[in-house]
Formats: sequence, C-alpha cells, structure tokens
Amino acid sequence: MTQVTADALARPLRNLRISVTDRCNLRCAYCMPEEDYVWLPGAQILSFEELSALVDRFIALGVKKVRLTGGEPLLRRELPELVKLLASKPLEDLALTTNGVLLEAQAQALADAGLHRVTVSLDTLTPARFVALTRRDALSKVLAGIDAAARVFPKGLKLDAVMIKGLNDDELVPLLDFGSRVGAEVRFIEYMDVGGATLWSRAQVLSRAEMLQRLGPVTAIADDGWAPAERFRLADGRVFGIIASTTAPFCRTCDRARLTADGMLLTCLYGRSGTDLKTPLRAGASAGELEALVRGVWSARRDRGAEERLALSAARAPLRAPQELHDDPHLEMHTRGG
Ligand code: SAM
Ligand code: SF4
Ligand code: SF4
Repeated sequence: MTQVTADALARPLRNLRISVTDRCNLRCAYCMPEEDYVWLPGAQILSFEELSALVDRFIALGVKKVRLTGGEPLLRRELPELVKLLASKPLEDLALTTNGVLLEAQAQALADAGLHRVTVSLDTLTPARFVALTRRDALSKVLAGIDAAARVFPKGLKLDAVMIKGLNDDELVPLLDFGSRVGAEVRFIEYMDVGGATLWSRAQVLSRAEMLQRLGPVTAIADDGWAPAERFRLADGRVFGIIASTTAPFCRTCDRARLTADGMLLTCLYGRSGTDLKTPLRAGASAGELEALVRGVWSARRDRGAEERLALSAARAPLRAPQELHDDPHLEMHTRGG
C-alpha cells in the first residue's frame, strides 16, 4: 500500500534518483577534474533485479518519480532492461539524465522500454570548448544524441547546462537558441560546490540573478513549489529554467532520495554519509524490514546541505578535498548521481 513518508521538516519522500554506475566517459571540470578516481567494486554494484526490488520499497513509501543517472548511465550495459522493469511499476515519471555521448544508438531502445523523458547535459556548443570542459572530443556525438532524443522523445527532452564564469557564460543565448531548434527546454544550473567539484570557487558561479539580468525581461511561471528549477518566460514566449542551488537553494522543498549503484541511500547531495541498503537486501531482509529501514532514515531527515553552504558566505571553498574523495568515493558527485 502506498503511503506518504515525511521527514523531520515535513518534506515527503517522492523522488528517487538512482545512480546506475559511477563510471563516466567524460571528465567535466566541475565534476571529475582529477586524473585518477577510485571506483566502486564490481561485486558491490546492484543488479537490475536488486534495484527493481528496492524501487518497489520506495514506491510503497510514496516515491512517484524515478530518475536514472550516474556517472554516465548509458555506460551501464543493457540499461533498457532496467527501464523495462521500472516502466511496469506505478510511477508518474521515469526519466534519465545523460551526457548524451551514447544516446544516438540507445534513444529508441530506451523509449521502447518505456522511458518517459530524457535530460541531456550540454554546457557548450563550441567543439574546442567542449574538449577543454570535458577532456574528451565528443560534442558531435552529443549533438547526434540530442537529435535522436528529439525525434524519439519529442515532448520529453530537456537540456541542462552548468554555467561557469569565464568558461561558458557567453553561451546563455546560443544554448537557448539551440534548445528552441531541437524543441527542448533549457535549464541553466548554477555551479555547485558539491563533492567532486574540487576546482570550485565562488568567483566562478554565474548566479541566478546574473543570468536573469543577462537574459533581459522575463515573467516568472508559477509552479507547484516542489520542482528544483524555477521557470521563466522571455518576451518572445520562450520558456527556460534556472536551478539556483548555490545562491538560492531549495532545500525546504527537497523531496529527493538518492541511491548509489552499490545501494547506499543518501538523503542529501551534500551529506557526509548514507545508509547501506545492499547488505540487508542481500542478506534476505523482508520487504517490511527494508521499508522500515528507509522510513526510519527519511523520518529523521533534517538535511539542508545547500542552505548551510550558503550561510558560509565568503568563507566558502570546495566542500571536499581530493584526498577525502579518494578515501571515500561515495562523496563524489559522479557516485551520488547529481
Ligand atoms: N553523466 C550524466 C550527465 O552529465 O548528465 C549524469 C550524471 S551528472 C553527475 C548529473 C548532473 O550533475 C549533470 O547535469 C551535471 O552537469 C551536474 N553537475 C555535476 N557537477 C556539478 C556541479 N559542480 N555543479 C552543478 N551541477 C553539476
Ligand atoms: Fe560530466 Fe556527468 Fe560525467 Fe560528471 S558524471 S563528469 S557531469 S558527464
Ligand atoms: Fe536537497 Fe540536500 Fe540539495 Fe538541499 S542540498 S536541495 S536538502 S539534496
């Protein structure tokens, strides 16, 4: 039976983001800037059947929306098989966030498997800048992936762009124009000081206020108050979003749980530690026992990570040092799923 599970700040457990792999085929400067990474051991990665069993527990506790992410989720072999398993469940929304490199070949299979929506991360339209930003020469593949997704998910395509001063902040309008051409809503994301963003500095954050100033007069679009992106309409009618996690965080309405590829439940992107669901799952815990475990964690949740970071103000520096991330890869954004 479905129920509402609220945390200590009355936020319901409604969204689940599943990182299906910690591996990635790009090395974005704001996420994986280091030379070497420690990966989760293969034997610890949950199978699709295990993930599916856990998702059932989350649905019983009130989850209505699932997003697959990573690392790069399309590196996970046979991902459409997982999508098929999840698409048969009573979910309002089943989405995927990808860097798009492998999307051209997989878009149709993902749609056939029952995926509702795709978000592609695209920070620049300039090939040389793409290489500088991601350390891989793959922009043409990403663009081909976006084309394929636009055909296969004509109403379900979004583009997410992390805007960084001095790197791509002159591409607000070109990215909006590109979004219009492919029929995708663009969402501009503030650069966050999450684990993994070891090069982060406040000076490089292009704030929500600066984005709005540069884009000119806009009208705010009312929403239900739970979505992370604020949406705006330009004078020409085009709609875009801003995710202002750094300068105007939305912790008070955060209904997102995260599950890593090895079954760690996280209640905040900035949290220090999580709860291991894999061990009890593999030890044969019953559905009721797993639900009690997750309910207990969520009920005690008081996380307001981004709001606490904002309060640091001028003293703000990268959240985690490279050595700390090396010692505990669960602190990495690419392990947590973004
Ligand atoms: N690899 C996939 C991708 O890039 O779309 C999925 C995983 S990635 C961790 C999910 C999202 O997190 C991406 O849109 C990425 O831009 C965003 N992200 C990663 N590091 C970030 C940072 N430091 N600040 C803001 N967004 C970040
Ligand atoms: Fe870039 Fe996503 Fe890979 Fe991070 S996980 S390096 S954001 S493509
Ligand atoms: Fe949610 Fe934590 Fe992000 Fe705040 S910082 S919006 S609580 S995940």
